[in-house]
Amino acid sequence: MSFSQEIKSELCKLENKRPCCLRAECYGIWLFSKCFSLRETTYVTENGQAARRMLELAAAAAGVSGELTYGVSRRRNPAYRVSLPDEGARQALLSVFGHTGREVSLLINRAVLEHDCCQSAFLRGAFLACGTATDPNKEYHLEFAVPYQNLAASLLRLLEETGACYLTPALSRRKGSCIVYLKDSGQIENLLTYLGASAASMELMQVKMYKEAKNDINRRTNFETANMDKTYSASARQTAAIALISDTVGLDSLPNELKELAKLRLENSEMTLRQLGEALGISRSGVNHRIQKLLELGERLSREKEMDTLLKG
Ligand SMILES: [Zn+2]
Repeated sequence: MSFSQEIKSELCKLENKRPCCLRAECYGIWLFSKCFSLRETTYVTENGQAARRMLELAAAAAGVSGELTYGVSRRRNPAYRVSLPDEGARQALLSVFGHTGREVSLLINRAVLEHDCCQSAFLRGAFLACGTATDPNKEYHLEFAVPYQNLAASLLRLLEETGACYLTPALSRRKGSCIVYLKDSGQIENLLTYLGASAASMELMQVKMYKEAKNDINRRTNFETANMDKTYSASARQTAAIALISDTVGLDSLPNELKELAKLRLENSEMTLRQLGEALGISRSGVNHRIQKLLELGERLSREKEMDTLLKG
């Protein structure tokens, strides 16, 4: 089941305890379904529960009965079709919510959302009709695909005003629909909880925590790798200097303390200064001091070698 379908199934299990909220959810689901019109139209959804809920709400809140048919879409997905074939039923549904069907543009009639409790029920209806949410493992995205521009704008305002959710929805267009969407994971969580889909909200939160933990581990691993590179390149420089000493004046020409460190370094290119110190029984800074001497000697020999080449050439 997709994340959208999970959310919708969860929302369809909720019971509207107050008649005002039942009305508000009915208004939301029909208003955003394209079927809220004097003309006969059909609303198509993959979600059978949402389709049945739409008809139940119409019957309970407006005393109107519609039709449900089932088929398969061109993409071979289930397609539940909801319609109100009876003209009287379409008129009745519109007038219950204070509409005539002859308005120049369809807007949310705020009078239906009498109480604070009704706003959540209304938005739940809207989401059931035209909402989708992307799998949080892929992307944080929740949207309402609204058929009309002014209706989309009035949904956007309502979402912005939804107390305690702190939503900052954005608006865009796609294939003749206006998309009201959220991209922030925290805001999507808030909205899902507000609509009553707390299990889906929890799932999103867990995915987010898992992703953050994974990023944290990646960040730490990158940091360690960077440090390791530093150790290796320093070690490579030291090895090159020691090799030059060995090839020119010979390691035996070195004082004992430098000779033992030089040999140890040649044999253990991966050791850190601290580890070299531990092997020799001296401090890290002691090792560093001796390493610097080896590097200086290496550089001097290298300059002399260049000079030789120049003089000979
Ligand atoms: Zn209410």
